[in-house]
Amino acid sequence: MLADIALPVPLPPLTYEIPAAWVPLAALGARARVRMGPRRMTGVIVRLHDERPAGVTLRPVEEIVDREPLLPADLLELATFVAGYYMAPLGEVLRNMLPSDLPPWGDHRVRLTDAGALALPGTAEERLVLEALRETGRMTLAELQARLGVADLDGVLAGLAESGKVSGEALRPRSTRYVTAVELAPGGLATHLAVAGRSAQGKAVIEYLDAMGRPATTAEVATAVECTPAVIRRLVKLGVLHQFTQVERLSLDRHMFGHRQEPAAPIVLRGDQELALAAVVRVLERRAFAPFLLQGMTGSGKTEVYLRAARAALDQERTVILLVPEIALVPALAREVEQRFGSDLAILHSGLGTGERHQEWERVRRGEARVVLGPRSALFAPLADLGLIVVDEEQDSSYKQEIDPRYNARDLALVRAQHANAAVLLVSATPSMESRFNVEKGKLELLRLTARAGQGTLPEGILVDLKEEGVSRRPGEVHFSERLKAEITQTLAAGEQIILLRNRRGYAPILLCRACGEDHRCPDCGLPRTYHLKQRRLVCHYCGSHLAAPSRCLVCKEEALEPIGAGTERVEETFRELFPGVAVDVLDRDTSRRPGGPAALLERFGRGDVQVLIGTQMVSKGHHFPGVSLTAVLAADAYLGFPDFRAVERTYNLLTQLAGRAGRGDRPGRVVIQTWHPDHYAIQAALRQDDEGFAQEEMRFRRVFHYPPYTRMVQILVRDKNRDKAAEGIRELASHIQAHPLSRTVRVTGPAPAPLERLRGEWRFQLLVRSAAGRDLHRLLKQVLPPSPSYDLVVDVDPQQLL
Ligand code: ADP
Ligand code: ZN
Repeated sequence: MLADIALPVPLPPLTYEIPAAWVPLAALGARARVRMGPRRMTGVIVRLHDERPAGVTLRPVEEIVDREPLLPADLLELATFVAGYYMAPLGEVLRNMLPSDLPPWGDHRVRLTDAGALALPGTAEERLVLEALRETGRMTLAELQARLGVADLDGVLAGLAESGKVSGEALRPRSTRYVTAVELAPGGLATHLAVAGRSAQGKAVIEYLDAMGRPATTAEVATAVECTPAVIRRLVKLGVLHQFTQVERLSLDRHMFGHRQEPAAPIVLRGDQELALAAVVRVLERRAFAPFLLQGMTGSGKTEVYLRAARAALDQERTVILLVPEIALVPALAREVEQRFGSDLAILHSGLGTGERHQEWERVRRGEARVVLGPRSALFAPLADLGLIVVDEEQDSSYKQEIDPRYNARDLALVRAQHANAAVLLVSATPSMESRFNVEKGKLELLRLTARAGQGTLPEGILVDLKEEGVSRRPGEVHFSERLKAEITQTLAAGEQIILLRNRRGYAPILLCRACGEDHRCPDCGLPRTYHLKQRRLVCHYCGSHLAAPSRCLVCKEEALEPIGAGTERVEETFRELFPGVAVDVLDRDTSRRPGGPAALLERFGRGDVQVLIGTQMVSKGHHFPGVSLTAVLAADAYLGFPDFRAVERTYNLLTQLAGRAGRGDRPGRVVIQTWHPDHYAIQAALRQDDEGFAQEEMRFRRVFHYPPYTRMVQILVRDKNRDKAAEGIRELASHIQAHPLSRTVRVTGPAPAPLERLRGEWRFQLLVRSAAGRDLHRLLKQVLPPSPSYDLVVDVDPQQLL
């Protein structure tokens, strides 16, 4: 028997011979170990056949790693689609779909027991196993399989283990394991901190448990806070923590917000929600593919609708995938989903520990968990009988993977659902232009929620023209206008909460020397490094390289360094000066790396321990904080000037989402937008909540300038350390494309330096290729692009970030 095996290399699948001993395990979607050149690699079996190619000697498969196929047939099909559409090697696509390093079945060892050494053989297969083990004493399952080729090795071993003739880790029934857990003793946080004394780690442990508001296993605390068990033992001795023992179970608690609550009075759906739900339930009953766009402003009850649709799918014995754009959004939804669906919930994302991830993935594969929640990779969960895929915040560019394979989970959700005859709900307050276009074309059915649940009032929009404030426009400048200060004062006095958006982390975007003009650029990326005051570092936000922040200019040695502009750190500093004594937290990629992560931070804010949250766009997404009555964006123009045709759409989305964060409780909210471009249509539309108006204007721009969704776009990027080589490579590609007969239907922009011309020490040149005929574009590129170029070639189909 032969197998085509997709390996994680830029090549099509390669054919190998399956030795007779391994034939019983050969299955599509199982992993296999092979040699490729001098290297050993693990790939996935994508085809089994007997078509021996003439004149080549095939190498044998060394081992089949899985007892059962890892990927069901429909996911193999989806992988093939991804490889074709996004022009990525199938093996790399498959590797991306599977959780990393799932333990190989064959690595488990079996040992001959004393009873086994003396026992009389039973069946022929049992004799083979016992004889093999008598020679060596112990073997791995893979060695046994390779030597004996038994059809059901697991079954034979189970029988032998039962009668005590062999033993091994994998053969023992799992006994219950116990773990130690801790919780805060009664008494206030302040008392605990005082008792714990000056130990920073002790303090971190207490703060972690306080933020989580529930017990946690010792292992969890030690990992989250990065402390030794000794630190926890000391706190137990001091009486700050209670320690107890509990049965080990997979606990996803720390990936959820808050405690379980008694269900509130059941919500009665409004008419528009009923209609939307009924449309989805109808197609679930027909078991047909049906794609929907569920549109409604923040707080209009979209989540309520899709969770009920999920219930309907489960009631039909089908399964559900719930996608959110970012891991940070998982905890809030996880608690909600768990309350409704209990142990049916599985969470899949890279923030889980390896063990947890494997366990969750296995639960899904075995059908023990039927609702999968996670970011884009959760789309590849090995669920059978898929009924519904929900893509929440479908417009979010995080659904696009920015490394190979560069897939967009939002678009693939439609493909997977089509293969599975499932329903898809793309959900958004401000749908992507692509989805709006698809509604126009009849490819998506629009379900609209018109009212706001709960209170009904829209937030009041307040525009501040920074030109009138007399603020000079310098890069990264941030300013608290008189109006904003007044709104903040009033909100604080009323005891309500505030969210301030500054989409830039660090202290200042530039540390400039006033004497010589040096701006401390990253030598590899060619752009100024950001000044981080708390870490005392200059950090390149493009490649992450950093150095200690200098106290005098590195070039002219003058003590004339001045931070220019402001990131979140400086906004926090300014805020504390203006409003001393107010409890403030900062949420951005830097602070979310601290113990407890963004979850602890958001939980603190949700409880009202903190009155003001300053942050990057992480604060604008998805969270539900009833106490917030004021939100503000300090500089709405930060995105508008980006050299990206989606810059305007992003600005609009950001502002609308931020507005949606205000006044979700029973109070009307206010949103302050500070800008240098008060007349810009994105800002005006966000201010007036004029979604139709924005969509019309933006669609016109896209149509006139031939941008997606009116065309398909592919970004072709050539990178190399050597500038000439990269420039030459892109010129050559451009001329090949222009010489191709299909190029008449294709619009080529460039070659030109990429917006980030230098990144991580490489020079980058790009071509943007667009066509209204997507298929032609694919055909052309597949014929023109070199399979193994001498430079680094990036092909990004439907790009989201043109950097
Ligand atoms: P969205 O997902 O559109 O932002 P949610 O579904 O999260 O909105 O709803 C916002 C809030 O309103 C939630 O607290 C939810 O429980 C509540 N809610 C939703 N639908 C209704 C309804 N029909 N009546 C009353 N409250 C509702
Ligand atoms: Zn850099």
